[in-house]
Amino acid sequence: MASDKVRTRFAPSPTGFMHVGNLRTALYEYLIAKSLGGTFVLRIEDTDQERKVEGAVDIIYNTLKEAKLFHDEGPDIGGDYGPYVQSERKDIYLPYAKQLIDEDKAYYCFCTKERLDSLRENSDDIGAGYDRHCRNLPKEEVQRLLDSGTPYVIRQKMPLEGSTTFEDSVFGTITVDNSELQDQILIKADGYPTYNFANVIDDHTMNITHVVRGCEYLSSTPKYNLLYEAFGWEIPTYVHLPLIMGKNDDGSVSKLAKRHGATSFQDLVKAGYLPEAIINYIALLGWCPKDNREMFTIEELIENFSIDGISKSPAVFDYDKLEWFNGEYIKAMSVEKFAEISMPYFKQAVPSKELDWIKVASILQQRTTKLTQIPEKIAFFEKQPEYEKDLFVNKKSKTTLENSAPLLKAAIEALDAMPEWTHDSIHDCLIELAQKLEVKNGTVMWPVRIAASGMAVTPGGAVEILDILGKEESMQRLNNGLAKLA
Ligand code: GLU
Repeated sequence: MASDKVRTRFAPSPTGFMHVGNLRTALYEYLIAKSLGGTFVLRIEDTDQERKVEGAVDIIYNTLKEAKLFHDEGPDIGGDYGPYVQSERKDIYLPYAKQLIDEDKAYYCFCTKERLDSLRENSDDIGAGYDRHCRNLPKEEVQRLLDSGTPYVIRQKMPLEGSTTFEDSVFGTITVDNSELQDQILIKADGYPTYNFANVIDDHTMNITHVVRGCEYLSSTPKYNLLYEAFGWEIPTYVHLPLIMGKNDDGSVSKLAKRHGATSFQDLVKAGYLPEAIINYIALLGWCPKDNREMFTIEELIENFSIDGISKSPAVFDYDKLEWFNGEYIKAMSVEKFAEISMPYFKQAVPSKELDWIKVASILQQRTTKLTQIPEKIAFFEKQPEYEKDLFVNKKSKTTLENSAPLLKAAIEALDAMPEWTHDSIHDCLIELAQKLEVKNGTVMWPVRIAASGMAVTPGGAVEILDILGKEESMQRLNNGLAKLA
């Protein structure tokens, strides 16, 4: 007996990447299930054997794990409604198709590929499709062809008149004329079901209550409903999600594609975005909380999410906005956590040194909005870039090529005389020097920072950089700077 408990399913095809549209679908399914005390199911839709990609299922598992969308049932953890991989369910579908044939709601089609190709070629109407040639073959003829082993597919017998209407929770009432519906294939020549058939059988046999998916499936849904009706099954609640668009250079928008930027979860992570920020951002791509709030943890999303907040207007993926979210997430974490997630980037930029990474993290954290910005910001710790001595000239700090040399010399002497090399001792030493020389602090700090880094712009100031570099390296660099000025 079916229970009333809410059950949603994420049903990705293993294509080798997780498009943000798919991830948003997974997120909304997860949120609907969790906010209503329901169950979130993972089902792998791999009936398109030609499109199978090695390792693609692992990408699905890893993405859900990284995004913290934990499923309650699925191929890896089991459940009462398995198997959860369509190719392992192959034998389930055919009896259902045969039932429809017996009830005259489906039929065997023996048309060859050549015939179908020529139909397509000879038609002016691109959407014309199959001409229903086998729809009314005499029973004996069907039997003869079956007995002789003629390859076949099974097609759904669409009503030729009338219309089909259904309610979508987001898009409202949708009606199509049945005359527009093709006699779609349910079982392919290789014995596998089509997505169109399998999704209905699976959703029903897995007791799915809410079908959440992209609006590209909206126009096919009447066909699915005719199947539900043919079997006498209850139709699930449909939640079709708006398109995700990307901004074009000319200001127009079109369906989000690679040319707009990273479009898969993995590529976004590679581009330096945090899973939490991606999830928070895409939660708002098509859903609006009642109070226009922006920052949500996954728990807060569960608390606040509701289907009636989903909009049917296309959502525009704004990379700048995502970067803003990312920056907020970076700022809000502990410096230890930031150091931990930044470590691959630290090691990439500074492979040969063991720096105090917490200190490195602390000068970066407030000014990093994407982790990929890190390497170029800290590469100078590994090796100082070649720099022009003009860098020592700075109007605001009142430094010139002339005064930089004596300032640097005085700083080198004062720093060298310090009994210990700590952030505070470096700080106090340079401040005292500025007082002694009766110049602004910046007038001392500027040439020191330039000589230490070789960069006009650095994360952290002179004191932080010297502290991280350590005395030996610092002295060497400051002396090199002095030599450059001589
Ligand atoms: N396997 C389909 C896809 O990846 C799922 C569609 C659905 O959720 O029903 O697009």
